[in-house]
Amino acid sequence: MVQPTETKARPDRAEATDTAPMVTFRNVWKSFGAIEVLRGIDLTIERGQVVCVIGASGSGKSTMLRCVNGLEETTDGVIEVNGELIGVRLRDGRRYELSPREAAAQRRHIGMVFQQFNLFPNRTALENVMEGPVVVAGVARAQARRRAEDLLARVGLSDRAGMYPRQLSGGQQQRVAIARALAMDPQLMLFDEPTSALDPELVGEVLGVMKQLAEAGMTMIVVTHEMAFAHEVADRVAFVDAGRIVEYGTPAEVFGHPTHPRTREFLARVQ
Ligand code: ADP
Ligand code: MG
Repeated sequence: MVQPTETKARPDRAEATDTAPMVTFRNVWKSFGAIEVLRGIDLTIERGQVVCVIGASGSGKSTMLRCVNGLEETTDGVIEVNGELIGVRLRDGRRYELSPREAAAQRRHIGMVFQQFNLFPNRTALENVMEGPVVVAGVARAQARRRAEDLLARVGLSDRAGMYPRQLSGGQQQRVAIARALAMDPQLMLFDEPTSALDPELVGEVLGVMKQLAEAGMTMIVVTHEMAFAHEVADRVAFVDAGRIVEYGTPAEVFGHPTHPRTREFLARVQ
């Protein structure tokens, strides 16, 4: 499949342009052994757009996100983020693997928030937010601390900076996780069911932070079962069924006039 590699310095950021879409999937396929999980995904996400990805469990939504930030390698097809090929590059019709360093450089500008908050349990909220800039990006501690304080304020947690994850509610932990992702100055944020592990009364505070982020112009791909959020915040909704996007459009189109029978069935179940 993918052959190792010409070694070369990281891809040239000059190749990226301000007009390139933020994310492009072109006929993306992904299998795990005999199981085909993604079966020809085509999707373009413009700068500043929020795209909500909906669909049944097992339809391939997480795999889509994991391919965008290079946690999974596509089996076929191409994903570009900000005009750069992700994971593999095509040259002269052949595939080249990125070096670990190149892949890490790309991933650094893509923030990801998971269903399980994945905070470091033995670090405070503030230290969790500082960790990436200090350890990965080499930012001075004092500067990283100021920025982390700003970000915790932005997610409404100034008064929780010194607390450990176990002392925080799930909603607060997830807001710390969002602040931590923002600390790396991402150009793109990926959310994989960020509220699915939360008690219902804590869902709103996390969605509120995400809505703010969307309004501030962040490009976001959000896998979610929160249809009201998708309806209100998404620019586009993609309904995934068995590894294909079978319905795509504005929230009004997808929720108001779903054309595919699978979409209608799904919406009837969740709404
Ligand atoms: P969703 O997020 O929509 O629930 P996923 O992308 O997690 O779906 O999974 C889609 C399918 O891919 C499922 O059948 C799942 O079991 C399979 N899958 C996901 N990751 C792996 C893996 N690392 N190895 C084997 N199968 C996997
Ligand atoms: Mg999933």
